[in-house]
Parts: sequence; structure tokens; C-alpha cells
Amino acid sequence: LFEMKHIKKSFGALDVLRDISLEVDQGEVLSIIGPSGSGKSTLLRCATGLEIPDSGEIIKNGKIGLVFQNFNLFPHFSVIKNIADAPIKVQKRDKKEVYAQARELLKKMGLSDKENYYPYQLSGGQQQRVSIARALCMNPDILFFDEPTSALDPELTGEILKVIKDLAAEHITMVIVTHEMNFAKDISDRIIFMDDGLIAVEGTPQEVFSSEHVRMKEFLGKFH
Ligand code: ATP
Ligand code: MG
Repeated sequence: LFEMKHIKKSFGALDVLRDISLEVDQGEVLSIIGPSGSGKSTLLRCATGLEIPDSGEIIKNGKIGLVFQNFNLFPHFSVIKNIADAPIKVQKRDKKEVYAQARELLKKMGLSDKENYYPYQLSGGQQQRVSIARALCMNPDILFFDEPTSALDPELTGEILKVIKDLAAEHITMVIVTHEMNFAKDISDRIIFMDDGLIAVEGTPQEVFSSEHVRMKEFLGKFH
């Protein structure tokens, strides 16, 4: 469904992605973990077209959606307009059909009563649910999340993790950068541990969390 081959990306003298190859299969949940500065966000930005790699190849079969850490909602648009705007303007879809889907998604996110609210009137967790609904309304074939809970208070983190878990149960293909280790272990089919611009460890949750890789153990140690 999605493939990166030998992707490299530098910012000036800093080699952020040094040779990244990965594949995502239909229906798979892939989590990416790793220390701050290891290149996780840059990898997602290259994957989703927000950043152009210096070399390598990206093969996409289908539409891509992205959910940001800081929600990135349009402050001057209502909730429903945030969700419906791009499908109507970018995808040129029928307004009625898009609004019906947007309302369906709001219902699924438990936000039916908030469609005419503005982002500033919502909690962080609610804003993030709107931004997930907005990504889903584009009918992506694969959904990328960059630390979807790291801007949230601990008590709001759970509600977002639950939403993502429900999407996984629907076999939505997802790539999730996260610092929530238990969540990654629980939800992922496969985990990638990035270190210094390279994929250092890759495997099932069991394989990755029992890895003897020195940097991986050091990294996990920070969560105990
Ligand atoms: P975190 O866990 O803190 O989010 P990360 O793994 O997502 O970290 P990146 O955001 O990919 O890390 O950044 C990797 C390195 O690339 C960092 O040193 C960062 O300063 C640098 N970097 C990222 N984007 C740019 C940019 N646009 N210009 C210059 N340097 C950048
Ligand atoms: Mg990041």
C-alpha cells in the first residue's frame, strides 16, 4: 500500500534521515518510536508530502491522511466546516454528501452536539477528535499520526487512544508516531524503533520490546 525506499533527508549539515526503507501493508498498524530528534516527524513529513526527500523513492497507492500533534484546526472555521472544507474544495465532492459524512464522523467521535462550535471552545481532546474526523472525511487509504496525544493532558490522552484503537479494529491502515509505549505495544502489528536517522530495530511488539539493542533498551529505560 505504501513504501519508502532508501529515503535520505538533510537540513544543512544535519543528516536527519540517513537511509530509511519501510513498507506498510493494507490494514496494518505500524508504530514508530524513538528518541527526540531521531527523525520521526521528518519521516512522516516526507511520507505525507510536506517535505521533499533529498533522495530515495516513495510509492503510494492511494490517498494519505495526516493528524498532527497540535491539531492544526482552522481557528476561524466551525467544527463541521473544518471537517467538510477540504473534501468539498480539494476533492470537489458533493456538499450534501460531505456534510452527511462529516456528521456521521462527528457522531462516531462523540461530538454531535459540537458541530457549530469553534476550535477555541473545545478541549484539547475534543479538538484532536475533530482533527481525526477531518482526516477521515478525506477517505484516506492510510492515516499517519504524529504524536497525537503529546499535546494533551494525561486524562485526555486516553480518549484519543481509544478512538485510534477503534479505528484499528476497523482495519484502517495507520502509521503512528507515539511516545505511549503501552499503547504502541497493544495496538501495533509492527513497531519501528528509530535512532539517529536510521531504523535501528523493527519487528512485532514482542520482538521490539524484548530487543537487546543497546539504544533501544536505553530508550525504554526512560519509561520505567
Ligand atoms: P520529537 O520526538 O522531539 O518530535 P523527532 O524524532 O520527530 O523528535 P524531527 O522533528 O524529525 O525529530 O527532527 C529531527 C532533527 O531534524 C532535529 O534535530 C531537528 O532539529 C531537525 N529538523 C527538523 N525539521 C527541520 C527543519 N525544517 N529545518 C532544520 N532542521 C530541522
Ligand atoms: Mg516529532
